[in-house]
Amino acid sequence: IILAQDLSKTYRSGKLAVAALRKVSFAIEPGEFVAIVGPSGSGKSTLFYILGGLTHATSGSVCIDGVDFATLDDAERTKMRRAKIGFVFQRFNLLPTLSAIGNIEIAHDIANLGSPKKEIDKPLLDQLTHMLGIEGRLDHRPNELSGGEQQRVAIARALITRPAIVLADEPTGNLDTKNSDAVLGMLRKSSRDLKQTVLMITHNNEAAQIADRILHMRDGEITHIEQGRG
Ligand code: ATP
Ligand code: MG
Repeated sequence: IILAQDLSKTYRSGKLAVAALRKVSFAIEPGEFVAIVGPSGSGKSTLFYILGGLTHATSGSVCIDGVDFATLDDAERTKMRRAKIGFVFQRFNLLPTLSAIGNIEIAHDIANLGSPKKEIDKPLLDQLTHMLGIEGRLDHRPNELSGGEQQRVAIARALITRPAIVLADEPTGNLDTKNSDAVLGMLRKSSRDLKQTVLMITHNNEAAQIADRILHMRDGEITHIEQGRG
């Protein structure tokens, strides 16, 4: 479902060049839960942005469900992204003027743009907010929430549309053990129940073990692949 071939990304500013990714290739099967683990600066977020079609690679290709991003224009790529991918950003990217529930609802509305008005999936909303322990915080705006609460709202926002693909960048980065376990459990359950393909980025080896397969990155390269507990 997700195919990355020889992905390279070099950031240039003036004479400075940083090779953030060096010919990274892998395939992720439908329904698979894959973790990418690596130290800070190894290129994980760069890979996340490229796979989500939010940044262009310097070279190489990304195919999702057999469609090469390079064959799509910006509007088509945006459409595909909205229809298929749920994002959890490392810096949450919640809209500051909306409450937690407002952020979750707008994700539902955006994913359904262009189709007949569809009500939010209330049972799923209740399940997400309960499992993530944010049901008492839904009327708060992001600046009235702790970092960990914002992170859990961002996860509910990504999952509310039942996306075929979930891309999560450090979804447990700001969480204590209890909430981290809740988030990992939620992602694992969502992936099983909905046969979702999940790509979770983390620098936490322990958290990565929940995946089916673990890709280890260092200096912009995949160094080895490990079986997770699944
Ligand atoms: P972390 O675990 O700290 O989030 P990461 O593995 O996600 O790290 P990236 O954010 O992908 O790492 O960065 C990889 C390399 O690319 C780093 O050396 C970083 O400084 C560089 N980099 C990332 N974004 C840019 C940018 N917009 N311009 C220039 N260099 C960048
Ligand atoms: Mg990062």
